[in-house]
Parts: sequence; structure tokens; C-alpha cells
Amino acid sequence: MPGIRQNVQEMSGYTPGEQLNDPDIVKLNTNENPYPPSPRVFEAIQAAMTGDKLRKYPQPTGDAFRKAAGRVLGVDPDSILIGNGSDDILTILTRAYVPEGGRIVSPTPSYVLYRSLAEIQGAKFETVPFTPDWGVPSSWPVAGADLTFLPNPNSPSGTALRPERIERLAAEVGGPLVLDEAYTDFAEWNGLALVGRVKNLIVTRSFSKYYALAGIRFGFGAADPAMARELLKVKDSYNCDVLSLAAATAAIEDQAYYADLRAKILATRGRMVVALTELGFQVTPSQANFLWCRRTDRPVKPVYEQLKQRKVLVRYMSYPDYGDGLRISVGTPAEVEKLLSELKAIL
Ligand SMILES: *Cc1c(COP(=O)(O)O)cnc(C)c1O
Repeated sequence: MPGIRQNVQEMSGYTPGEQLNDPDIVKLNTNENPYPPSPRVFEAIQAAMTGDKLRKYPQPTGDAFRKAAGRVLGVDPDSILIGNGSDDILTILTRAYVPEGGRIVSPTPSYVLYRSLAEIQGAKFETVPFTPDWGVPSSWPVAGADLTFLPNPNSPSGTALRPERIERLAAEVGGPLVLDEAYTDFAEWNGLALVGRVKNLIVTRSFSKYYALAGIRFGFGAADPAMARELLKVKDSYNCDVLSLAAATAAIEDQAYYADLRAKILATRGRMVVALTELGFQVTPSQANFLWCRRTDRPVKPVYEQLKQRKVLVRYMSYPDYGDGLRISVGTPAEVEKLLSELKAIL
């Protein structure tokens, strides 16, 4: 393709999880919340459709959301940058920090989008293997990267480093460290309190999982306010629309509703760990709303394929120098029952 940059022509592009249209499918492959969003979200979207709100541009920095999030999470609203999904924030960070020919680093096995971001930017991508128990090496081997991504909890493992370790890592990394906290609302701890104090740390959050709003596309970043001001220059002025801003603001204000969903999801996760272990999977202890399930006695790809034939969709993942496994989202009790009964039939 003449004119298309060489690095773009050479890349294969990120492949997102399958989004099948079949309403009968039990969808446990992309970690959506199995429950609906707060009723207040629907009210807020209705209200946003009244008067001339859709005719006009949205407020570009999402100040109503920033104020609400600041209050709920105890962070400075000026540290918050709104995004069209948290992937948008990851793109903004890449554009802001990484020159062509620069270097992006992330641990592996991990979120595969980071490689695509590097390839689009024309940057080199380097990985650092997680230790066998999903820790990072006692001293981080790659100093001086333009950007380092650390998902916490990590995908596919669901494991999470503690804030003390993250703070130490930020010092070792030196350059900007992005803590991708897409799943952190399900975890026992998070790194948000480090923002501002640890100057090179940026935390990103998603509304696609915990807040049950994957269809809305909303996320945010939190960084030292001086850093957030610079990042604001890189984002599209109107990256978040009137409806997503209304939905996200209503969602973050309804913490009680989501705490209830969280309790249900964690209870189901506990039951899934027991049942999947009984079925012969090695299940990694998870801080997220999914489980990483491996086997040594048989290949798991056919298990994924047979589950799909039986209308249960999970995520098959395979990583170089590591191996493969199934990443299974925590569903409703009925969905999990279907998963387990199909697995019993297959195995
Ligand atoms: C789902 C996910 C995201 C992206 O979330 P969006 O807000 O939907 O863009 C980012 N990072 C990780 C590790 C994820 O699993």
C-alpha cells in the first residue's frame, strides 16, 4: 500500500476477543460484568437525551465526571484525564511519551494490545517475563524505556503486585510507568494512592468491566496534575461523548450498587475455582473477574473449540516461551453452571 507507513504495513494488528451476535451464547471471553449497570445509568442517559444536549458538543475535559470521581476516589480532579475506554488513555500515553524508534516495555504474558501500540508508533517492544509466581524480577532489567506498561491485576493471570512493590518498581523503571488497573475494582488493593506522590506513575481505569459499561466506552487516567495537563494536549478534544460522560458519572456515584455486584462476582469466582480445580485445571488465584486455567495432562485448545461448539465462549490464549491456557470470565451462577456441565461432558 503506497504511502502507508512501513511499520503499519508490517504489523498484523490487534485481534480483540470474539464478539459473537448469537444471543444464546454464554459469553465468558472478554471479562464483561455479567450483570447490568446501575439503574441510575439508564436514568442519566435518558436525561442526557433531553433538550438540546445531543445537538451540542460535550464538555471536553469531562469536569462533572472528574469532580465526581475525585470525590468518590479521593483524588485531585485535576489529576484525571477522561478517555474513550481506557485503551484510549493507553494510546494517548503512547503518543505523548514514545518517539518513533523509541521503546515500550511490558511484562509477559500480559495484555497483547501494548505490542500493537508500539508497532503503530514505530517503536520497539520489549518484554520482561513474569517470575513463575507472577511477580516481577527482583530488580527490573530494562531501564530507560520511554514507556512501561504493567497491568495490575494482570491479564491473563488475574494476579496483582502490591503497592509497595509498585512504588519500588516505579523507581527502578525510571521513565513513565503505566499501571493498567482495568480490573482493580475487583482486587483487594490498588495503586491509586501512589498517584501524585510517585511522579512517574500513571494509573488507568476502565468502565468496561466493574461498571458493566463495555458498550459505552469510557475510562480514565490519573497522574500527577502537571503530567495530566500535558496529556490533555494529546487527546482528541471530544474523545468522550455526552452519553458516555452521563453514564460514567452516574455509575461512579452509585458505589453501593456496584459493591453488591462485586460481592456476587467474588462469591461466584470462589465457587468456580473449586469446581474448575476438581475438573483438573490448574487455576491461578485471581484478584480479577476472570480465572486463568491451564492443564498439563491434555491440550486446552480443543477444550476451547468444543466449548464454543456447545455455545460457551471462553478465551484461548497462547504466549511465546510460556504456553497456553483458557481465560474464563466470571459469569452469573446460571452461566457458570452451563460452563461446568459442558466441561464435564467434554473432559
Ligand atoms: C479490558 C482491558 C482494557 C481496556 O478497557 P477499555 O476501557 O474497554 O478500553 C485495558 N487493559 C486491560 C488489561 C484490559 O483487560
